[in-house]
Amino acid sequence: MLHDSSQPAKTDLLSQLDALLSENKQLVSQVHDLEVTIQIMAEHGSFIEAELQTTNKKLQLEIEERKQAETRLQMLASAISRRNFDLEIVLDTLREHGDAIHDQWYAKVQEAQYLAGVDGLTQIPNRRRFDEHLKDQWQLMAEQQSPLSIILADIDYFKQYNDTYGHLLGDTCLKHVAQALQGSISHRADLIARYGGEEFVATLPNTELSSAIAIATRMQSQVEYLQLPHACSAVSHYVTLSMGVASLIPSLDQTPQILVAAADRLLYVAKQSGRNQIAYDGSLVD
Ligand code: GH3
Ligand code: MG
Ligand code: MG
Repeated sequence: MLHDSSQPAKTDLLSQLDALLSENKQLVSQVHDLEVTIQIMAEHGSFIEAELQTTNKKLQLEIEERKQAETRLQMLASAISRRNFDLEIVLDTLREHGDAIHDQWYAKVQEAQYLAGVDGLTQIPNRRRFDEHLKDQWQLMAEQQSPLSIILADIDYFKQYNDTYGHLLGDTCLKHVAQALQGSISHRADLIARYGGEEFVATLPNTELSSAIAIATRMQSQVEYLQLPHACSAVSHYVTLSMGVASLIPSLDQTPQILVAAADRLLYVAKQSGRNQIAYDGSLVD
C-alpha cells in the first residue's frame, strides 16, 4: 500500500489559511474602529480644543492669582519684620529708660488728677474734690467717733456786684475771696472748696461746733479785711459773706448729705436774718 505524504501538508495549509483569515478579520475590525475614532475626532475636534483652551486659561489665571498672593504674603512678611524691628527698639528704649518714662507718666497722671479736682477760675479745690473729701472724712470720723463740721459761705448780693462792676471784676472778686478763705484754715485735713457760683464750703474734720464757729468768724474777718468795695450791698460798703455752720459725729448708717443739708438750711437762716451773718444750730453770730 502506498503512503500519501501530501495529506498532512494540505491540512497544515488549511489551518494556516484559517489563521490568516481570522487575523484579517481582526485587522478589518480594528481599521473600522480607527475610522470611527477618526470620524469622532473630526466631528468633535474643535469642541475638545475649545475645552482644552478654557482649561488652560483657567490654569493660567490660577497661576497668576497664586503669584499675586505670594507677592502679598512677602510684603506682609516684610512689614511684620519691620514692625518687629520697631517694637524691639521701643522695648530696648523702655528697658533702658523704663524708670524715667514711668516717673514722667506718673507725674502726668498726678497732674491730671490734681487738675480734675481744681476749680479753673479760683484755683482752689472744686465741688468734685469736696464731695470726695467729705465722703472720706465722713467714713473716717464715723470710725473714730470724732466730730465733723462744715461751713457753707455765700457772697452777699453778688448779682448786684456783677451788675455794678461787670462780670470780669466779679470773677476777680471770686478769686480774692477764695484766697482769703484758704488763708483761714490751718489743719492738714481741712479743705476749702468752691461749692458753685459765689458759694464756698469748708470741711473741718476733728472739729467741734465751737471751733467751727471760730473758723467761720475768721473767714468772715479775712474777707472783711480785703475791703472789696460793694456799692450796691444793703449790709456793708464792702463784700461780705453769709454762712451756715453745721457739726455732728458721723454715723455709717447715714450719708454726709445730712450735714450739707443742715449747713444749707443754716445759710438760708443767715440770709433771712439780714446777711453778713453766721448761723449755727438756731443761734446767730453777727
Ligand atoms: P444773696 O445775697 O441772696 O446771696 O444774693 P446773690 O445776688 O449773691 O445771689 P444770687 O443767687 O441771686 O446771684 C448769684 C450771682 O453770682 C449770679 C451769678 O451771675 C453770679 N455768679 C455765679 N458764678 C459766677 C462766676 O463764676 N463769675 C461771676 N462773675 N459771677 C458769678
Ligand atoms: Mg448763692
Ligand atoms: Mg449770694
